[in-house]
Amino acid sequence: MAKYIFVTGGVVSALGKGIAAATLGNLLTARGLQVVLQKFDPYLNVDPGTMSPYQHGEVFVLDDGAECDLDLGHYERFTDVTLSQDNNLTAGKVYETILYNERKGKYLGRTVQVIPHVTDEIKRRIVLPAQKRPDIDVVITEIGGTVGDIESLPFLEAIRQLRLEQAVENTCSVHLTLVPYIDAAGEIKTKPTQHSVAELRSIGIQADFIICRSRQPIGDEARRKIALFCNLPPEYVFDGQDVRSIYEVPLNYHAQKMDDLVCKRLRLEPPHAADLAEWERMTRMILAPPDRVRIAIVGKYVELKDAYKSITESFVHAGIPNHVGVDQVWIDSESLEGRDVGEGKLDEIFKDCHGVLVPGGFGDRGIQGKINASRYAREREIPFFGICLGLQCAMIDIGRDLAGLAMANSSEFDPATPHAVIHLMEHQQYIEMMGGTMRLGAWPCAIKPGTLAHRCYGRADVSERHRHRYEVNNAYRPALAAAGVVFSGTSPDEQLVEIMELPSHPFFLAVQFHPELKSRPNRPHPLFREFVRAAVEHQERIRAQKAQG
Ligand code: GLN
Repeated sequence: MAKYIFVTGGVVSALGKGIAAATLGNLLTARGLQVVLQKFDPYLNVDPGTMSPYQHGEVFVLDDGAECDLDLGHYERFTDVTLSQDNNLTAGKVYETILYNERKGKYLGRTVQVIPHVTDEIKRRIVLPAQKRPDIDVVITEIGGTVGDIESLPFLEAIRQLRLEQAVENTCSVHLTLVPYIDAAGEIKTKPTQHSVAELRSIGIQADFIICRSRQPIGDEARRKIALFCNLPPEYVFDGQDVRSIYEVPLNYHAQKMDDLVCKRLRLEPPHAADLAEWERMTRMILAPPDRVRIAIVGKYVELKDAYKSITESFVHAGIPNHVGVDQVWIDSESLEGRDVGEGKLDEIFKDCHGVLVPGGFGDRGIQGKINASRYAREREIPFFGICLGLQCAMIDIGRDLAGLAMANSSEFDPATPHAVIHLMEHQQYIEMMGGTMRLGAWPCAIKPGTLAHRCYGRADVSERHRHRYEVNNAYRPALAAAGVVFSGTSPDEQLVEIMELPSHPFFLAVQFHPELKSRPNRPHPLFREFVRAAVEHQERIRAQKAQG
């Protein structure tokens, strides 16, 4: 019999509900319980796959190819499990299912309504993971948006009903709010929290736990006040003050006995106490590494850090075994193009950077800048790591500069190019629907022994997650290979290029997939780990040169 925890947010968005839900998952997992996390988003897109990164941040892709909210990335990283398409639901998907059923005549002539049909479908999805896996002890469901939004009402109503149908000890509600500090008054204010909890109560849900997000500790007095006005014992009101690293959050809530209190409330008997020794050791290294290294990330959505969330986290993980903190220097790829961008300007921009990463992306804006970054790193022997679009840009640079293909390009950017070193895959050519039609999810990759890629992974067969439409054009593989490229990873049938590298360079590696989607703090991705190691070595070389004079 699984228990259900619901995580909602109030007052404002962007309080870190995803991290709070992931933290609960982390602590309950650390106690030996089987936990699954899911995110329900009230918007009408069927999934975030068609949304701009400016709207939505990164699209996180799962093994089964589901294009998901980036919180699923936090869930996987904090609980070290692999999630599935069952674990992300949107209002769009709910309505898609209901309208499909309606057309099939499944409602037998009845009027189809928000209550009961929409709420029933939401309830079906809340319990689905535990139905599929009877070993699940706890299902944590995070509701996107803020309490009070019109579009989240059916989701909250479904929770209210489910709580009513279940025994009291089988469900609990965790509500995250903002406790602002008012500079002029010199104090924190609890009123927004009181209102938000009251709003939730007016929908029929009494919060069982409150997490107060704030700049500084809320203190005992405010805690008592919130508890009194919100019908709770003071210890059920948690202090969620800002921390330096999200990896500190589980330690912070554990210190406030969150896992104990939640288990008590749900009458859960976990197999053991929370084992957080490994997590603590990791967090210590993240917070106080003995050295630092600087990586330039040449992207298109650099003002919006959420667009590259998993890359940022992968660098945090990769720093741990290398005993460094990774400073990420975000460079707008458009600033690397234009007539005034000569060698001198690039020298200045990449000064003090020990590695260059070109991440994924879509569309032709800023492409030349990414190609320039790839060439600069190649010629200056700076460690280079290309991801998806980053691989495609590296192939264009090498095609143009080393393989004599002056017009080399991707047909994504120039459909008429005579040298389409990157082109649309056969099966992508006649696709009309945009949603869910890319090459998505986990694909096997075979790695050539004796290559850098093989040294990084330490094995010859891996599985990595994809999200793209274009591929290396096999017709140009011989020309690119003659220019020095080694295609060190391919699909097992060798038809699709997955990894390329330049053996003449200290570390030049690019991949068609997204390794950042599989990095975990306790298991940093081998390619990120080895790229950071190469950056550390590059920094050591520079230091040695400086020391010599
Ligand atoms: N736009 C490129 C493609 O569709 C790269 C996609 C990506 O980087 N995720 O193939």
